[in-house]
Amino acid sequence: MSERAASVAVVAVGDELLEGDHADTNSSAIARAVLEVGRSANRFLALRDDEELLAREIAELARSHGVVIVTGGLGPTLDDVTRHAVARAAGVPLVVSEEAREHVTGWFARAGRPMAASNERQALVPRGADVIANPRGTAPGFRISLGESTLFALPGPPREMSGMLEDAVLPWLAEHPVDEWARCARSFFLFDLAESVFADRVGAWMERSANPLIAVTAKAGVLSVRLVSRGSSLEEAESKLAERAAEFRARFAAHVFSEEFPDLAHALGRLLLDREITISLAESCTGGMIAAALTRVSGISAVFRESFVTYSNESKIERLGVPAELVRGHGAVSTEVAAAMASGAARASGARLTLAVTGIAGPTGGTPEKPVGTLCYATVLDGVIETHERRFTPAGRDAVREWATSLGLGLLWSRVRPRSV
Ligand code: ATP
Repeated sequence: MSERAASVAVVAVGDELLEGDHADTNSSAIARAVLEVGRSANRFLALRDDEELLAREIAELARSHGVVIVTGGLGPTLDDVTRHAVARAAGVPLVVSEEAREHVTGWFARAGRPMAASNERQALVPRGADVIANPRGTAPGFRISLGESTLFALPGPPREMSGMLEDAVLPWLAEHPVDEWARCARSFFLFDLAESVFADRVGAWMERSANPLIAVTAKAGVLSVRLVSRGSSLEEAESKLAERAAEFRARFAAHVFSEEFPDLAHALGRLLLDREITISLAESCTGGMIAAALTRVSGISAVFRESFVTYSNESKIERLGVPAELVRGHGAVSTEVAAAMASGAARASGARLTLAVTGIAGPTGGTPEKPVGTLCYATVLDGVIETHERRFTPAGRDAVREWATSLGLGLLWSRVRPRSV
């Protein structure tokens, strides 16, 4: 066995993908899924609905990858040419599969709809292929050997594709393990750590030859870190991964808010609910976005008291009792005003935890001292105030507000995160 056998090539087929009309989400979904069974996607290719081109590229990929997964182009219309291209790459004719025909006719019968003649095309598969059922749509998929490689053809609609991946492709891969190049992965999501500081603190763990290998991406104050481990068996890869994951957790405990989703609102909401900490918010530049994010969490009404969108100076003064001279002296965008807003919201709501944010989202309103992207926060937990001022390099009003929301959620999470881990 070799790295070639463990490597997966993913081909996304469809003119619409190359014309920018649809993002190719199938390839990344497949890449994530195959890692769970010890394989790794080493090549993504997006190709037009062109039979000759597809046949050539598929044949080439089958020579260098143990598994090729093709999505799209299995529909009933003449521009759906995947099955023809695979047959050509395999050097076999297309034949009518009774199983596929029953699948297509059965789908229409269950849906109570007449079947168009063009759907007959969907009963064709390359000779020697095994049909893969598609309970969620008309297009069955198939699996076929191409030399030493195995090709899976799945339909394009993501819901159908994911279902068949789960039902047929992953179980097949799990039953055909590749001994010497098993892979597995784990994710961590961290708040309030610059990518460069992170790189310094992980040191040699990030070298390209390291095992597990670390990949990191940053968005709106959140670092997404993925550890991918290799081993001569899935057990070995998993044990290496577990060891590094434990070290990682210990080293970055203060920053890891989730090992599941990059969703700060969810992590914060769970903590507030678990610890029964009531919350209220006073938002200026985010206009309620932090409240909107937090109220997405199911069950949050048990702790979410109320939220103030105090956009004008008058509203900050009248609703939250911010002293007018504070606004005049320091400006509405200041940590002093943020602290007064947070205290006002705490007084008005009786919540144990409050956060206030005020900032300059732009594109107008910046000054040399307080440029666009300046954000001032205050949090109050059981009467103890903390303030923070941050500068975000402006990349448009929406981006500043999105970042301000993420940062607000993260600052709240930092105040209540468990200290012992
Ligand atoms: P259908 O029977 O729906 O025609 P199909 O296998 O022919 O299935 P396509 O026609 O290629 O699939 O794609 C159908 C729809 O699925 C596309 O309009 C697009 O919305 C979605 N889709 C296709 N490929 C991808 C992809 N790689 N990532 C995300 N969505 C995709």
